[in-house]
Amino acid sequence: MGMGELRHVDEYRRQSGAAQLRLRLADICDPARTYRVMEICGGHTHTIYRHGLSDHLPDNVRFVHGPGCPVCVLPKGRIDDAMALALDEDVTLCAYGDVLRVPGSEGSMLDARARGADIRMVYSPLDALRLAREHPELEVVFLAIGFETTAPATAATVLDAERDAISNFSVICNHVLVVPPMQALLNSPDVAIDGLIGPGHVSAIIGCTPYLPLVEQFGLPLVVAGFEPLDLLAALVMVVEQLNDARHEVENQYSRVVPWEPNPVARALFDDVFAIRETFEWRGLGPIPRSGFRISDRLADFDAERRYGVVGRVVPDPRACRCGDVLRGAIEPTDCRIFGTACTPEHPVGSCMVSSEGACAAYFQFGRGLAGQP
Ligand code: SF4
Repeated sequence: MGMGELRHVDEYRRQSGAAQLRLRLADICDPARTYRVMEICGGHTHTIYRHGLSDHLPDNVRFVHGPGCPVCVLPKGRIDDAMALALDEDVTLCAYGDVLRVPGSEGSMLDARARGADIRMVYSPLDALRLAREHPELEVVFLAIGFETTAPATAATVLDAERDAISNFSVICNHVLVVPPMQALLNSPDVAIDGLIGPGHVSAIIGCTPYLPLVEQFGLPLVVAGFEPLDLLAALVMVVEQLNDARHEVENQYSRVVPWEPNPVARALFDDVFAIRETFEWRGLGPIPRSGFRISDRLADFDAERRYGVVGRVVPDPRACRCGDVLRGAIEPTDCRIFGTACTPEHPVGSCMVSSEGACAAYFQFGRGLAGQP
């Protein structure tokens, strides 16, 4: 490694390494077949478009974007539920910055804040707990979102609140699990995928073993990958090699971070703080059985849904919005007719245009599909 290089970053961005992997890919790809490889994670989608990886693949190899952006999959009804709490109940709602911009039925949470709701941006659930601790006169509700990656922080915060008997703190839990939507997608007749690139961050928590039944059931290869461009190209090579060999295995390209087995500390937190919901509504994918966490019965006092009788609205997306199809990998963002016109990052109509991990936002940010751009 050269002077001034960042370990585990620069070494996975070198052009020479990328050139070698592209040559390897061109060498092993069978021109008589196609390779459609879904990257589940929105972080991977961002890397693919930030570094223009799709532009340098053989013609018969294609990334298909999946549903792994936590902001994108949060359904409109859950946004409306949270906004109703902030507007109708006397609560202080705390949420991550991206979530504040996701459109609900009547605008975003930023709009609700302009109408007088007490909605605050936080960087972690601990910020919300600190607010509750320092202001006992407020009823603080944390809007928790994310896959298994961010769920441990929420769980640990709820346990802190329990330990210190912080009674003015609760959580609307929207944490979701990554394997059930993958299963739902693979069961979908209009989604054609040959292989999968597994999410790096989630897998750092759940390990690789939860993917084994999926790979067995659908006969597809899955390679867990890191987030640098060379990570993704290397994972793609591994998927193509498996397909050529008619293998379907779980492989771990990101072993510098991801263990094979689940993280036992995170698993213990999940078991203590959460219970699996019978079903959870996903934007674009509809209700998926056993795909989301709720707060466990033992910790019901910290469950904002029970405390405030949250109704669980189900709200359809606007007719012009194709986020559901984008999230299922059925269309490219540019196939949505309002992409880049009525729907932009400044004025998002759909959730995939909000977070930098959303496929539409990544396309837009890196100039794809816009007039005059490649
Ligand atoms: Fe959804 Fe906007 Fe993307 Fe269309 S362009 S799919 S409305 S985010």
